[in-house]
Amino acid sequence: MYHKISNQLCQCGTPFYCYDLSLLRSTLGAINLEIEGYPFVVHYALKANANPVILREIVNAGVGADLVSGNEIMAAIEAGFDPNKMAYAGVGKTDWEIETGIDKDIYCFNVESVPEMEVINEIAARKGKTMGIAIRVNPNIDAHTHRYITTGTNEDKFGIDIPMLDEVVEKAMNLSNIHLRGLHFHIGSQITSLEPYKMLCEKVNKLVDHYEKNGVNFEMIDVGGGLGIDYEKPEENPIAPFHDFFAVFKNGLKLREGQKVHFELGRSIVAQCGALISRVVFVKENSVKKFVILDAGMTDLLRPALYDAHHKIVNLTSQESDMETYDVVGPICESSDVFACDEQLPITRRGDLIAILSAGAYGESMASSYNMRNLPGSQFVG
Ligand SMILES: *Cc1c(COP(=O)(O)O)cnc(C)c1O
Repeated sequence: MYHKISNQLCQCGTPFYCYDLSLLRSTLGAINLEIEGYPFVVHYALKANANPVILREIVNAGVGADLVSGNEIMAAIEAGFDPNKMAYAGVGKTDWEIETGIDKDIYCFNVESVPEMEVINEIAARKGKTMGIAIRVNPNIDAHTHRYITTGTNEDKFGIDIPMLDEVVEKAMNLSNIHLRGLHFHIGSQITSLEPYKMLCEKVNKLVDHYEKNGVNFEMIDVGGGLGIDYEKPEENPIAPFHDFFAVFKNGLKLREGQKVHFELGRSIVAQCGALISRVVFVKENSVKKFVILDAGMTDLLRPALYDAHHKIVNLTSQESDMETYDVVGPICESSDVFACDEQLPITRRGDLIAILSAGAYGESMASSYNMRNLPGSQFVG
């Protein structure tokens, strides 16, 4: 995608995010192809990237929204997502956020605790409405991803753990202004093995059986998101392995008549279509290392500092064929403001343009103005 980045595009000033909309459309097309003919509904997790231009493309593909705040509900409405395809998760929904979801008639609250369920019931009753909910279950599956992005073990703050589930389901059945639609799961993010998803299918089947025997039928199961992408070889694998991912659920879930499966994909939809474009401010040497110092930093792309994540880095302008080893760093006054250590790049000079690839997810949406920096802008190709 970075071949499409022209000098003209860079005149707006660096750093900025460059999005390849044709790759985004191909990605959405690949997903729609896999779910066609199946009772599957895909939601897009807005927290991965809420750039309005990106959202418009996703709305056009008919995908729903997965939301984690009241402002995200408003942004999804603004972007034209169908409220009937909106699910809202989060352990700490405040009253105004719950009210917003109720006022906008969203499809489902993914409820994470009993107190939350009671408040939704109470506010819905006050408004004379009945709200759809799913209970977020903590299935105690280790997704083998970074500990900051694993969400489905008993040590995590998310969801209701299985020993308490009977009690919570019964409670939901007895509250008059909520309607229990089903169970919700989300086991983590950047999951690169399908094994955790197979284990999830088994847990889901067991729970559906168990509740069916007790007279509780679910109209839907929400299996969350988390499908990983290839950060090391983005050019070879620009589209996530959707075929294999959806096949796990096609083969693994024992669905009941009329039952739907909801998915909440974030990263795998938008990560590869975005690159962070930056200019080299200085190349600096000390007694042991060479540093490439960029005008982009952790305020523009937090993942390396927050999760030790590595993104592929490309020098867009160097004509050199000789390679050199650099630490690629940002300008922020924090030692963790490092994009990569010991990165091999062609000989790099002040003024070169650098692309940090696979930055479309949890990039722009996590940007901050720490050090009083400007937020990164965005440009679109394709
Ligand atoms: C973040 C999140 C997602 C999306 O996760 P990805 O790893 O980006 O696919 C889905 N569901 C919930 C509840 C989330 O919090």
